[in-house]
Amino acid sequence: MKAFVDRGACIGCQLCATICPNVFEMDGEQISVVIADPVPSDFEECAEESRDSCPTEAISIKE
Ligand code: SF4
Repeated sequence: MKAFVDRGACIGCQLCATICPNVFEMDGEQISVVIADPVPSDFEECAEESRDSCPTEAISIKE
């Protein structure tokens, strides 16, 4: 699984980094970046939860 963040869509709410800190981190511009590529199987569930919870649908996931 691979996770992607659309930087133009991210509003820096930090939700994904809170839900799934092993996959998402806020960068110096307070935009989420993916720090686990590919996403380890242990964190796939929280990555999907982050995608589903993102208020701007900035996160996409590919198997
Ligand atoms: S949940 Fe969405 S808007 Fe919020 S920080 Fe993560 S990618 Fe950005």
